[in-house]
Amino acid sequence: MPPVVVIDFDGTLTEIDVGDAICDRFAPPSWRGIDERWLRHEIPLPDAQRQMWALVGAGPDEIRAFADSVGRLRAGAAELLEEAAQGRLEVVLASGGFDLYIDRILGPWIARGALPLRFANRLVWKHGRTVATFPHPDLSCATCAVCKGEVVRRQRRPGRQVVFVGDGASDSCAAPVADRVFTVKGGLFEQTCRERAIPHTAIVDLREVLAILDGS
Ligand SMILES: [Mg+2]
Repeated sequence: MPPVVVIDFDGTLTEIDVGDAICDRFAPPSWRGIDERWLRHEIPLPDAQRQMWALVGAGPDEIRAFADSVGRLRAGAAELLEEAAQGRLEVVLASGGFDLYIDRILGPWIARGALPLRFANRLVWKHGRTVATFPHPDLSCATCAVCKGEVVRRQRRPGRQVVFVGDGASDSCAAPVADRVFTVKGGLFEQTCRERAIPHTAIVDLREVLAILDGS
């Protein structure tokens, strides 16, 4: 059975955190203080996101256009997604970010069927204001609206290897439950795995994940 790669979006499939870049561009600087409260575990991520995204003064078209300009895929992402498009492995997206910019950036790959399973949050506009919504309550945990540990658990099948690739604070729940963990080198997730003594492989290029899966 081909392995399944559960992968984070912001800062993992892409080079930068696109959600943060959108907030930087379209919200007043006070959004950073809200983000830091979540990073200090003072508030759950969905509460932080509701508050942060309410500050974003842009419509969907503006956000899509901005995503086009900043949402470059990480080295090796095309090769990983090509393997998925060819049916040689499964790639499942598990993101604490938002579908509007994710679907925009991954559009050509989604059209090719590389990512049939994508779990992310949703942006809607009500009375001209940006509203963060969380359409996967069944995947939530105490801190995340899309718990990546829960996404990993649901991919378990007898005889199938489930690997996880991530970079940030919201990836922590996946570390103890994945068969193999890859961290983006230099990110918070790598630091968490090191502190908790969870075996992991730090990568820069997603071809490093493919090389290891081919050899296992
Ligand atoms: Mg990330």
